[in-house]
Amino acid sequence: MTSAIDEKIEPLFQEVLNRNPGETEFHQAVREVLESLGPVLVKYPEFAHHKIIERICEPERQIIFRVPWIDDKGQVQINRGFRVEFNSSLGPYKGGLRFHPSVYLGIIKFLGFEQIFKNALTGLPIGGGKGGSDFDPKGRSDAEIMRFCQSFMTELYRHIGEHTDVPAGDIGVGGREIGYLFGQYKRITNRWEAGVLTGKGLTWGGSLVRTEATGYGAVFFVDEMLKVRKDSFDGKICSVSGSGNVAIYTTEKIHQLGGKVVTLSDSGGYIYDEKGVDLDLVKQLKEIERRRISEYVKYHKDAKYVAGGNIWEIPCQVAMPSATQNEINGADAKLLVDNGCIAVGEGANMPTTPEGVRVFLDAGIAYGPGKAANAGGVATSALEMQQNATRDSWSFEYTEERLKKIMKNIHQSCYETAEEFGTPGNYVIGANCAGFIRVAKAMLAMGVI
Ligand code: GLU
Repeated sequence: MTSAIDEKIEPLFQEVLNRNPGETEFHQAVREVLESLGPVLVKYPEFAHHKIIERICEPERQIIFRVPWIDDKGQVQINRGFRVEFNSSLGPYKGGLRFHPSVYLGIIKFLGFEQIFKNALTGLPIGGGKGGSDFDPKGRSDAEIMRFCQSFMTELYRHIGEHTDVPAGDIGVGGREIGYLFGQYKRITNRWEAGVLTGKGLTWGGSLVRTEATGYGAVFFVDEMLKVRKDSFDGKICSVSGSGNVAIYTTEKIHQLGGKVVTLSDSGGYIYDEKGVDLDLVKQLKEIERRRISEYVKYHKDAKYVAGGNIWEIPCQVAMPSATQNEINGADAKLLVDNGCIAVGEGANMPTTPEGVRVFLDAGIAYGPGKAANAGGVATSALEMQQNATRDSWSFEYTEERLKKIMKNIHQSCYETAEEFGTPGNYVIGANCAGFIRVAKAMLAMGVI
């Protein structure tokens, strides 16, 4: 069901498969980018000559380490930590840390690879990297989270720095974890180095709007796609998956723009509230009490909770997958399109399988891939770095305005690049080519390194 890779690029993809056995998510992410690049090599033959694709697919550095820690029962626990420093041609490696039991090298490499192009699309000086651990934070006490973060940083600190590599949050890593990680970094290095991590607390170097940025940015991106079609969020029924930071602030911005979000989910199932999700309640349950989304229906008797159900069976006009990779398959995508979905904006990284992407593209709906649509989070991290570098802090309004402008620019550059390469309206090709060209030109300028 996947489309073809250009015949000159196909052997390079085979090489990626051979060199990285078993890393299926990484293969998927690489394939998706390489499929777009045929016309780019025609326009820029020097990229092939200098083996830019081969080099970009090989991380500059991959770090794997043991993370030992002691749980509340006094038992020793061992997890595996990762940091993949993928590409630093545009700036220090930048990308989040994911703590989730599904994490292994293939997941971190797919995320790090996507991050290169996403970060390039922001137009800001940030390279691509990603890290994390197979640690499962679910059900862990605050003290256990702290001890784990301290042990993780006790190894990671030697590899990062404000000019080297700047981690942030992702699934399982939010403000609390960034606090513990920053504290340990400060203690070990004896440096109060704000720019080494982003997503910090607002009283100690964090940026306003960082918490909201991925969700808000994704909605701004979809709003731009809708504008092209002379449409808007006003009155739209929207389906959002997930119930973490991205899903919550996607919902908030959709409501501000006059749309109605009727679903949210977690790994246990989804809620459907026909009247529109009560976001104050969700914030209380998820951000403050760290409870499950199923508990929503205890407070809203007319909403329903479907354990283990398929969230995409709920009809909607706009879908914003904001949970995790491969959450929409071909059949789900078909269900969405058949039920009248006209736009999809990916808050999560690679939430749609290749079959699903094909369905959206063939249907001609507005489809904003994650590396463009969810770039607002990392873009605002770069704004946090800017504020840290100048020891300044900006207002909410100013920072949100900057974010909005960045998302508008990303949309425009994807839109124009898709046109340039003869596939108008195809934001997958637009995002992959625009991001790749920016990185490739920098790599070319810096020689064979
Ligand atoms: N984890 C987020 C992403 O997938 C944000 C990374 C960052 O802020 O560095 O882009």
